[in-house]
Amino acid sequence: MLTLEDNFKKLRTRIENACNSASISPNNVQLIAVSKRHSVDKIKALYALGQRHFAENYLQEALEKQAQTRDLAIHWHFIGHIQKNKTRALAEHFDWVHSVDRIQLATRLSEQRPVGMPALNICLQVNIDNEESKSGFAAEQVPDAFEQTKGLAGLSLRGLMAIPSASATPQQQLASMLKMQTLFNSLNGVASFDTLSMGMSRDLEIAIQAGATMLRVGEALFGPRPNS
Ligand SMILES: *Cc1c(COP(=O)(O)O)cnc(C)c1O
Repeated sequence: MLTLEDNFKKLRTRIENACNSASISPNNVQLIAVSKRHSVDKIKALYALGQRHFAENYLQEALEKQAQTRDLAIHWHFIGHIQKNKTRALAEHFDWVHSVDRIQLATRLSEQRPVGMPALNICLQVNIDNEESKSGFAAEQVPDAFEQTKGLAGLSLRGLMAIPSASATPQQQLASMLKMQTLFNSLNGVASFDTLSMGMSRDLEIAIQAGATMLRVGEALFGPRPNS
């Protein structure tokens, strides 16, 4: 069995190779370790290897892990589906929320971000393949959502996030991710808007090719997820 350290090295090599092929500096691509359903010990072990950005999908699980890693300088990202009644906890406990899929959620996060904390970084989630099973703005709704969220107090609108269809071929995934890149590039006038969050264990090379700046990787780092 490969250790976490081996996985981490292999993953960084994959990212470097993909960046080289795309003529992109690896410094422009940030790795977010998706630790959902994995133990706090694994988070601590990866932290000890230098990883600082971690993402979680389930609020309660995330809050418990945060409580057990208070002494570590982790940047916490929320990437799961957002329930309206959970926005306060998100606003109080996270550095990033990637999965904003309704204006109302952004408004609530803005109102609930505690004064004195740095702005909460948010991405608008886009349902790029128009899948029933996925949340996210339709691509054509994104320009309006961008306008309505860019000036909200307490928030920093950083970019767009997508999870392309798991059943798509690599060609289809690339086409979807290039649509994301085009959409991202069409939105202008917000200095903080610099993030394209896409690419997971199985498709990160394609994502890098399409201009991803943040990769959300779970399985390739931590191995298969235990069942909850
Ligand atoms: C679980 C998850 C990931 C990580 O997926 P892997 O296939 O384990 O790399 C990335 N993004 C989101 C939104 C997820 O829910």
